[in-house]
Amino acid sequence: MRVFVILPAAGIGTRMAAAHVAPTAPKQFLELDGIPILVHALLAFAAVAQVSAIYVAVRKTEMSRLQKQIDEYGFDGKVHVVEGGDTRQESVSHALRALDCSGEDIVLVHDSVRPLIEPGIIERTIEAVAKHGAAIVGVPAVDTIKQVERTADGAIISSTIPRERIVLAQTPQGFRCDLLKKAFAEAEADGFVGTDESSVVERSGASVFVVMGSASNIKITQPSDLDLAEFYLRARATRPGIPAREKG
Ligand code: C5P
Repeated sequence: MRVFVILPAAGIGTRMAAAHVAPTAPKQFLELDGIPILVHALLAFAAVAQVSAIYVAVRKTEMSRLQKQIDEYGFDGKVHVVEGGDTRQESVSHALRALDCSGEDIVLVHDSVRPLIEPGIIERTIEAVAKHGAAIVGVPAVDTIKQVERTADGAIISSTIPRERIVLAQTPQGFRCDLLKKAFAEAEADGFVGTDESSVVERSGASVFVVMGSASNIKITQPSDLDLAEFYLRARATRPGIPAREKG
């Protein structure tokens, strides 16, 4: 059983660009503590012994920039660059076609803009996928969740969803290769586009298990998230047991 990783990184980060923080670089290339966000994520996966290969999907115009960064950080030839697509799902699909997985091999998909994922959580996800076939990282909801109707005057609550039944999905999201390929083929045939890979696999009828994530596994979406990520990185540097990220 081999473990492959896909990092979709072909987004243009409109929310970040709108704030004029990154007029020239998509957010996954912005630096945190002197290391590009995407490279933080790569270092976390490269630190997991079971991972055989990592495929990063980026826009054509970013391919050479990423290749240079990969060369700079080493990664022992484990990291490959593929061209992304127009949607996240298409980008993942391109990478899935490029990697040579079969049967019980495991494919993990991770948002390239979640730089603070910890190797321990990746390992627990791999274990859960090996056992159940499909598992994602998620955290319980601590806020009360409301369903709303949007009107011209604003949002009106239509119901309160019991939060014990809510999990906020993070990544990595992992699946057996055969299951993921089948679900992607069905979604493509039906014209279904999901906001994560789990939704694609759920609709194919598979049970997807949840592995406990972490509050620090944030998705860098807006400028203030960079401050929060830096705070978590500093806190981590002073915590025993978690090695600081360094160039290879
Ligand atoms: O849309 P969302 O915020 O879920 O995007 C998450 C990830 O999907 C980002 O890492 C982004 O770069 C990636 N993405 C992609 N190809 C696209 C659009 C988004 O790889 N066409």
